[in-house]
Amino acid sequence: MVLKNDVFNQIGCWYMKNESKDARALHKNRKSSYDRIANYHKKYIDPKTGYWNNKYTTSRSCPVCNSDDSRLIFSKSGGNYHTCNQCTMVFTNPVFKDEALTEYYSYLDTGQGEIVDNESLFYK
Ligand SMILES: [Zn+2]
Repeated sequence: MVLKNDVFNQIGCWYMKNESKDARALHKNRKSSYDRIANYHKKYIDPKTGYWNNKYTTSRSCPVCNSDDSRLIFSKSGGNYHTCNQCTMVFTNPVFKDEALTEYYSYLDTGQGEIVDNESLFYK
């Protein structure tokens, strides 16, 4: 799943054309967008634990060396960040399942949800 480059540019241009030059108005618009996205993210957080809801996630090994030997180093925004005890790679564990990512980006209305079938559109 990748962003469709021309759609991303269209959205970027839309923002450029329609955003106020006034810093307060600009901040208010961006704060509103940020708040809307932050509220959308809450769906994926388990209110009991404060972590990503495990119905959307799956455990994984180190994405570099495939070791299961890792330790938690910190948590942020519901995600747990581990470091691999074999190669020191830092990665999130668990991670979102593919179905959860597809759902997340399908309903996110910020332009980040564009899905394309042909990755060449992204890299042109
Ligand atoms: Zn590793």
